[in-house]
Amino acid sequence: MKIIMLGAPGAGKGTQAKMIAEKYSIPHVSTGDIFRANIKGGTELGMEAKKYMDQGLLVPDELTVKILLDRVAQDDCKNGYVLDGFPRTIPQAEVLDKALSELGEKVDFAINVDVPDENIVKRMGGRRACVKCGATYHIEHVPPKKEGICDVCGEKLILRDDDKPETVLNRLKVYHDQTQPLIDFYTKKGVLKTVDGTVSTSDVFASIVAILG
Ligand code: AMP
Repeated sequence: MKIIMLGAPGAGKGTQAKMIAEKYSIPHVSTGDIFRANIKGGTELGMEAKKYMDQGLLVPDELTVKILLDRVAQDDCKNGYVLDGFPRTIPQAEVLDKALSELGEKVDFAINVDVPDENIVKRMGGRRACVKCGATYHIEHVPPKKEGICDVCGEKLILRDDDKPETVLNRLKVYHDQTQPLIDFYTKKGVLKTVDGTVSTSDVFASIVAILG
């Protein structure tokens, strides 16, 4: 099963993607996580990506497409995957489509987690991420067991630079300009399913499971 998660930054698609990955035993592939791992590792790719990420801009398609195609070509992706944060532009979606059709495959579901902009701005300020493993939390909706500490690895939680208010506004603009057209793209392919992302994490997940079966 090949699933794409769509939705504004902060709509909760990462949280849902992880839950889907666990339930259906498929890898969770997040381009944002791959970039952050590279930044942390001080790689050339990481340094290049950081320039864009810190401003809330998209990393250029050439870089992003290459890392994504390399990732989904790995063995653990044979039976499918859930993509979180990719594609974010029409050219990215077209490259993915072409790569899949060369293998006789296609995207099975594009899940659009729908949350209005007003809610997004409020939500992002409450987001926290682990400095070490990248796990994400929300101080109200998905709090860690111990305040400021990661449940998974015990490291410190921070507000990511790209979740700071000024960057969030930029990311929302970028989302509307460059990513929202994908809703139309996947509607035309007959695979788009929209779920209400304003309800609780478990209710959003229940709607997704009802779609995926
Ligand atoms: P995320 O964790 O998915 O919100 O991604 C964080 C940041 O990484 C984004 O704001 C972009 O700068 C960059 N990024 C992640 N995925 C992509 C993508 N598919 N295309 C371009 N930039 C991306």
